[in-house]
Amino acid sequence: MCGVVVIRGVKGAYNLALSALMNLQHRGQDGAGILTVNQNKGFQLKREPGLISNSFQPLLKNQTADAIILNDTVALGHTRYSTVGSNDPNLLQPFIHKGAGLALAHNGNLVNFYDLKKQWVNDYETKEPVSDSSMLLNLLAQKLLAQNAPSFFNAVDFVMHECIGGYAIVGVLDNGAIFGFRDPNGIRPLVLGVKTDNESVYGMASESLPLSFLGFDRFTDIKPGQAIYIDEFGQKHEKIIKESTVSPCMFEWVYFARVESTINDRAIYQARFDLGVNLAKAIQEKQITADVVCCVPETSRISALALAQTLDIPYRELLIKNRYINRTFILDSGTARAEAIEYKLFPIQSEIKDKTCIIVDDSIVRGTTAAQIVRILRKCGVKKVILASTCPPIISPCYYGLDFPDSKELISYQKTDQEIARDLGANEVVFQSLHGLESSLKQKHLCTGCISGSYPTSIESATNFTNTRKNDRKVNEKIL
Ligand code: SF4
Repeated sequence: MCGVVVIRGVKGAYNLALSALMNLQHRGQDGAGILTVNQNKGFQLKREPGLISNSFQPLLKNQTADAIILNDTVALGHTRYSTVGSNDPNLLQPFIHKGAGLALAHNGNLVNFYDLKKQWVNDYETKEPVSDSSMLLNLLAQKLLAQNAPSFFNAVDFVMHECIGGYAIVGVLDNGAIFGFRDPNGIRPLVLGVKTDNESVYGMASESLPLSFLGFDRFTDIKPGQAIYIDEFGQKHEKIIKESTVSPCMFEWVYFARVESTINDRAIYQARFDLGVNLAKAIQEKQITADVVCCVPETSRISALALAQTLDIPYRELLIKNRYINRTFILDSGTARAEAIEYKLFPIQSEIKDKTCIIVDDSIVRGTTAAQIVRILRKCGVKKVILASTCPPIISPCYYGLDFPDSKELISYQKTDQEIARDLGANEVVFQSLHGLESSLKQKHLCTGCISGSYPTSIESATNFTNTRKNDRKVNEKIL
């Protein structure tokens, strides 16, 4: 999962893109990039590994080099979380295709990337493209450069018919036009924002929050299979290119998006609150009682509060987060994740000793965090640990942009709740039901591939995807 943003129509677009990326940092921490379009110099690009605040500074008027870029009115930004391809800094986006005068930033994964790549290398006798994002760039550029060059929408149509997967893409052309499009199932989110007081300013981003931070006050979710094109004169064009069953990723509401955002008209805050209420019902059905409810900070806090309120059990902050450690789920190896958890969470021992605690987490994927938390609580003399997950058991890989490509690494794969509890060292585990999830997220359809094993797209090429991703991870773990 990555964060993407594009801004058009206002001077200082670079600084706006930077602010937006700071509010998208939770979507990827491998590195980031910002590209501007300059009338004289063409594309200006800066890409750096690591956290945005460590590598990027706002541009200042009194510095000549900065002042030139500050006049630019178009900027494109990306923050990276690696799935396909290793965490090589050369894979940081945005990517540029000079021949086509095109740059783009991508969030998601193509299930058939390795098939497309084989075909591409075969046809063009080149080792490129290196990732699914550069594949998308090449396909779009190839069509835009074709003789009798088609309209932009025809080029997107070509991409959508070639590519299978979950993707949200924003980009720019060197004439100052910007664009965004979303996969036909709408698996990955993309929002269009406008300002009531200046309708010539446009922004598109992975979530509403970074745009509302910039003063955008009217938001529309770009529809699944829809492309938006704001031309060099600032005129907006839009078209549904390819329609399919709308299946947004349930993980956006459960874990990934910022709690202040809204996706597909459903506020993340309200969805997480309802996840807590519905999870409480599952706990009541099992007739579990406890002394205290606690969240695993931060994502599950709203759900834990709602659960405690529904069960009429005191809510307490028992695990205190060191705010300087990044999100553990999106670190790129098991070793890195385990070490991060150890430094990240500190228990309040006096409140834990001899108590039965319900620990609410957003999800239990590999079980690394959950097992570590149980160990921390046991050391504090806890009486019983009930692990409660706001998401149903994750039993199948994600092929659309989250980093769990192999069933065997999932703690819930082919296990009963009792076996999962035993492996995590807990007294019990309680999972959200699929019905509880669906009624909390209030979407007509959802992607629940990793819960049910039933995916919204073809996954014929998935074996290739899983094996190559596992190899990428081995390379990363050696680097780490
Ligand atoms: S498989 Fe799971 S994590 Fe991946 S897009 Fe679907 S719901 Fe989201």
